[in-house]
Amino acid sequence: MPKVLRAATAGFCMGVDLALKKLERLLSEQAEAAADIYTLGPIIHNPQVLAMYAAKGVGRLEDPESASPGSSIVIRAHGVPRHVRRTLRRKGVYLVDATCPKVKKAQKLIETYTGERNLLLYGEPDHPEVVGLLSYAQSETMVFQELSELSGCLEQGKRYVLAAQTTQDRSEYTRIYEDLRARLGGELPVLDTICDTTRQRQQEASDIADQVELMIVVGGRSSGNTRRLAQVAASHGKPCVHVEEAEELPLERIRACRVVGLTAGASTPGHVIDEVERKVAGLEE
Ligand code: SF4
Repeated sequence: MPKVLRAATAGFCMGVDLALKKLERLLSEQAEAAADIYTLGPIIHNPQVLAMYAAKGVGRLEDPESASPGSSIVIRAHGVPRHVRRTLRRKGVYLVDATCPKVKKAQKLIETYTGERNLLLYGEPDHPEVVGLLSYAQSETMVFQELSELSGCLEQGKRYVLAAQTTQDRSEYTRIYEDLRARLGGELPVLDTICDTTRQRQQEASDIADQVELMIVVGGRSSGNTRRLAQVAASHGKPCVHVEEAEELPLERIRACRVVGLTAGASTPGHVIDEVERKVAGLEE
């Protein structure tokens, strides 16, 4: 059977764990009241966990305007734009804020450091966290994924501040900062908004990828941080399989390996990772 090197950082991050605990507490508190419970958007990017909560009666709201008074609404770890929070308050819902403390910190930093400075935000423009972060800026904003997108956009005489989506790569952020600082003549405050959990998880995936023949990444296909783990493994020239559940494992391919690596995204439950590990460890030679 292949030896499995499992990452200690695989599975729920602090923000996701906290958000799910808040949802669980709400479910047990309101079980007798039979109140309507909704999450605004998917609580995490994992279809199995979402199906489990749907079966418990947790609904999913996409538009805050459609919230009904008296219902309970959980804001997920990514946070929401300010105007969404205002709408929910106006609607008279019971609001449970499960915004990750690290995303909250990024929102506060952006609010504090913009105003006299325009915001340059390194991140995915359509990502819900990024949309939320932008709403905290007190100035003009620019979102970019590649430095080339800023060519011709930076104006001499204007002042800027640099921030990043929490899950971006730290070394790339440093490279971007150095480049922009040189272009802007050395004057560019940089906000510490990257979550170390992501860096540690990527670093561990990178270390493990060096020691194995194949990497297994477990997590939702729509989870950005899970997909990035697969890219980290690929950047080491190692083949990588991305599965959501143990049933999807390509067993013959895995059986042919002596050592395989195992990691998982921040929204992957521990029992799903355990199941994958059991299945791989149970393979006969
Ligand atoms: S990855 Fe980091 S910032 Fe994002 S929810 Fe998890 S702990 Fe919070």
